[in-house]
Amino acid sequence: MSDQRNPSVIAREALKRLASRHLAPTPANFQACYNEIANLPNVSPFPEPPLRQLAAALTPRGDAQIAQLSRLDSAISGRSWQGVQDALQGFISAGAANASATHLPHETTQALLHLFETMLPAFGRDDVRFAEAVDALLAALRISPCEFSRLDTVLREFAVLVPCAVEEQIEIRESLLKLLQLIIQNIGELSVDDTWFKGQIDGLLAAVEPPLTLRHLDEMERRLRDVMEKQSRARARSVEAQEEMRQMLAAFIERLGTMNSSSAQFQERIENSARQIEQISRIEDLAPLLKDVVSATQAMAEETAVSREQLRGLQDKVLATEAELIQLHRELDSASSLARHDPLTDTLNRKGLDEALEREIAAMRRRNSALSLSLLDIDNFKRLNDRLGHEAGDNALIHLAKVARACMRPTDTLARYGGEEFVILMPDTSLEQGVEAMVRLQRELTKAFFLSGKDKVLITFSAGVAQLDEGESGSDAIRRADLAMYQAKRAGKNRVIGA
Ligand code: GH3
Ligand code: MG
Ligand code: MG
Repeated sequence: MSDQRNPSVIAREALKRLASRHLAPTPANFQACYNEIANLPNVSPFPEPPLRQLAAALTPRGDAQIAQLSRLDSAISGRSWQGVQDALQGFISAGAANASATHLPHETTQALLHLFETMLPAFGRDDVRFAEAVDALLAALRISPCEFSRLDTVLREFAVLVPCAVEEQIEIRESLLKLLQLIIQNIGELSVDDTWFKGQIDGLLAAVEPPLTLRHLDEMERRLRDVMEKQSRARARSVEAQEEMRQMLAAFIERLGTMNSSSAQFQERIENSARQIEQISRIEDLAPLLKDVVSATQAMAEETAVSREQLRGLQDKVLATEAELIQLHRELDSASSLARHDPLTDTLNRKGLDEALEREIAAMRRRNSALSLSLLDIDNFKRLNDRLGHEAGDNALIHLAKVARACMRPTDTLARYGGEEFVILMPDTSLEQGVEAMVRLQRELTKAFFLSGKDKVLITFSAGVAQLDEGESGSDAIRRADLAMYQAKRAGKNRVIGA
């Protein structure tokens, strides 16, 4: 509670208290004694003018420091010591941040640039996103002087993609090794047949053409397996057929041999009879001789008839075996290089798709109509394989193809683009309609469950849809759809995005 006495009385008292306490007669000590006697709180006065002077002397650098100065100004006006303290601390730390936002030393920049330039080609440029991040990183390092904050941003973006890229490289290497093993195994078993060899080498060359993606390798692996299986079947069958032919030929020769020898015997008997006939003088002696000749002739005729029958049978068998071998070779040829269909899902394969796409693009230009295509990739397919087995995975692919075919227009084309990726060509379809069609397919799939044993499995996919631009190539449009599909994956999967 404050003192109600006259201030001059209090002032006198205060002077006396100063003296009695032997305190130096400073304004602060006098004020303290005065407040004590007057029962007032002893608050030191707020030094506004000197604080304003101090604030005016501070030169801000950057927006952060300007903001802190304005906080300081408000704190002085509001007479808040805490506010002044906070604003000054803020001003100092903003200054520290400014100081570190400078540039990287030239030598460090050059060393980093050299490191990345030598290291990055090992990752290839097949992944578009990774290639872009690499370009941004190298570009940031090539700007001299290299700004730390810029480098920090691109480095962070790059670092997010590195684990994926490394994983991909490891997988590619493993797949390549597996492929090589298959090829070596296959060549070992190869029959000496040029068309075989050519079909497989052609396929292999196509598969290792850049970009060398896992999808490509996966496709190649499946094709090679297909060819190998058919080849070994054909080989086994042709060995059998050859053996059959050999046996038939042996029988044929034996038969010819007996024919020859029986006709030689016949001739001998006839000649013998003829000689005896010449020598006989009585007609009664002729009868047994004639009987002999007749029976020899009869035996010869019977023998010939049997031989003819047997030879005809042999000939039929040879022809049948030959036809079977031709059929086997036809299958083999289609498996090794000519096939346009994916045997598992009975959709078009890559080669079939390329041809269909070429046809549709030509039709689009001719009719001046729209053409859209969609690339869809099943979500979490690896997990489905791991959980239910590879066979169930195969059946899921067959199921998806079936549902897709059922809800597509008859003019649409379905192709298996790679492992669990499909491309759908949609003539006379705009981008919006194409997206709608894919959303419809998503809905159909939620209705038509895939059954694995008794398990109902919901298959979802992510898709990118692209409408072909005038003059755009099919592969460019697929690339755009692929990018949109990738965005759909990143956005949480089970969605359709228009490119
Ligand atoms: P995401 O949702 O990101 O697409 O994940 P994901 O697991 O579907 O994708 P990822 O590409 O990592 O795995 C695809 C898997 O599909 C790997 C491969 O073993 C499997 N796959 C490819 N072709 C076939 C096939 O013909 N049959 C079976 N059962 N599986 C296949
Ligand atoms: Mg995939
Ligand atoms: Mg997938």
